[in-house]
Amino acid sequence: MKGNIFIVDDSINNLTLLEIILKTRGYTVKKAKSGREALDAIRQEPPDLVMLDIMMPEMDGYDVCRTLKSEELLKDIPIIFISALDDPFDKVKAFEVGGVDYVSKPFHAKEVIARVEVQLKIRLLQKDLEKQRLEAIEANRAKSLFLSNMSHELRTPLNAILGFAQLMQRDPDLNEDNREKVSIILRSGEHLLTLIDDVLSLSKIEAGRMSLNEKDFDLHVLLHALQEMLGVKVKAKGLKLVFSLSNLPHFVYGDDVKLRQILLNLLGNAVKFTQTGTVTLRAGWDGKRATFEIEDTGYGISQEDLVKIFEPFVQTESGRISQEGTGLGLALSRKFADLMKGEITVKSQLGYGTTFKLEVPLVEIKSEQKQVRRKVVGLENGQQYKILIADDTIEHRYLLAKLLSSVGFEIREAEDGQEAINIWKAWSPDLIWMDVRMPKMDGLEVTRYIRQHENPEKKVVIVTLTSAAFDHERETIFAAGVNDLVTKPFKEERIFEKIEQYLGVRYLYQDDNTFSKVIDEQFSSIIVPKLANLPKPLLDELKDAAILGDLDTTNEVLGKIEVEDRFLADRLNEMVKGFRFDAILDMINSL
Ligand code: ADP
Repeated sequence: MKGNIFIVDDSINNLTLLEIILKTRGYTVKKAKSGREALDAIRQEPPDLVMLDIMMPEMDGYDVCRTLKSEELLKDIPIIFISALDDPFDKVKAFEVGGVDYVSKPFHAKEVIARVEVQLKIRLLQKDLEKQRLEAIEANRAKSLFLSNMSHELRTPLNAILGFAQLMQRDPDLNEDNREKVSIILRSGEHLLTLIDDVLSLSKIEAGRMSLNEKDFDLHVLLHALQEMLGVKVKAKGLKLVFSLSNLPHFVYGDDVKLRQILLNLLGNAVKFTQTGTVTLRAGWDGKRATFEIEDTGYGISQEDLVKIFEPFVQTESGRISQEGTGLGLALSRKFADLMKGEITVKSQLGYGTTFKLEVPLVEIKSEQKQVRRKVVGLENGQQYKILIADDTIEHRYLLAKLLSSVGFEIREAEDGQEAINIWKAWSPDLIWMDVRMPKMDGLEVTRYIRQHENPEKKVVIVTLTSAAFDHERETIFAAGVNDLVTKPFKEERIFEKIEQYLGVRYLYQDDNTFSKVIDEQFSSIIVPKLANLPKPLLDELKDAAILGDLDTTNEVLGKIEVEDRFLADRLNEMVKGFRFDAILDMINSL
């Protein structure tokens, strides 16, 4: 096996000896006498393997190794340490800093060759695996993309088929025989539509394009709606539907659409596969997780089928006989549950019934907290924070910049990773909103760079904005050294919450009902000095417009104020929207 090997040793004798040993076995050898010289040469032309002496003046082998491991392009090159028997050589440390093996001086040619060969072989296999992994990801992505395009294409003609079949069904001249045929077309068409929708969802999940869409919602309202929806079918089959909700909170934060879809599917199945008896939903809450048990007295599922039913397109005997459904419902439900960091389990006894159990983490919104989630309008007195927004998409950057500068944060924007690093160096922001995918250097590389180069006493807070929904993606993001992560599309509250959490910012809030409360002492103590800073003629114009109480004139003046002080203009604008010309006048008069 041939390969390029780089040897670093401050002793010429060792260098020459190793070079001879390796060259006679057909390896290409390059060498350096010091760590610095070696790093330069390795960066120019990365070798397949490095042999590294430990005791060297200036920069020792451990430091060279650490540097190599910290550089993206070099970190995978295997490093074998070289040690003299009298070195205070710490084998454990050699592995800790990232070495893969070590050889001791004096060398035995055969041992050196054997160790080098093993490492090169491992490296080759690693590269191979990595290539296969990337190919597999790509193939999977292509498959999912194909499925999702296909589903879109199928939908269009299907809509025409369903539309016309519905029209025909309403035709009074249609005879009984043809009416039956049309209704078969309709039923089959609808079945096909469900199938396409489910396949689309599944392929979206697999392509990583399905993310959580979390918001505050009322759990009781959601469950009540489900109960109503199933009511008709339950009655028609002569079943009983019982919902028992013990100490379940009303308001929670989570993905209500996915939760509804899972519950609807589990309850729908329970009703579908039960001939007589009761379908029960028992919901519980432990402060962090909601538990939903859906129990039926139906056909049940055999033990061997239980392990299969969560796979796509799997139906048991009863499923096939029912001639309803697609066998995708449970597969999707489980994927949705995974996405929500929840879990679905099932117990069943053939002939007696089945119990599905869904557990999902949700965040309870206490009623006091609901009040805290008022609209943020500013920062409390005397606070200054510098926030950098790194995102290559101009719309995203603009949206966030506008949001944050409107409450008084100092903002800088970077449109790629390199620019983000430059601004970070020159401006030392308190917090960085970091997009992951960016040209030149992605958000994770930027984060790693900053974490390696910053003062550990004064670490900048980095929060990524990402649509990554999968655990492994989140793990990679956190491993890069970010403090936190907010999923896109983001909600204003999340952004403000995170800044509050990490920087200890204190906000001013707008009262939901009356604007007058906002114009309390704190608020005017910020606005009044800002008004005082305005050029006198502009202030007079504002006063005249406020006396007139005219929206158009005031907005015109606000346009001019915005050039001077955007924060002030935004605050005044909110007051104008609430027709609080009187409050504006009060403040101007107090100057
Ligand atoms: P579908 O309901 O569209 O057939 P699902 O993925 O939801 O597909 O369910 C897969 C299969 O699992 C069903 O076809 C059925 O055979 C079985 N199954 C699901 N829920 C129940 C249940 N409550 N009782 C008995 N069998 C069930």
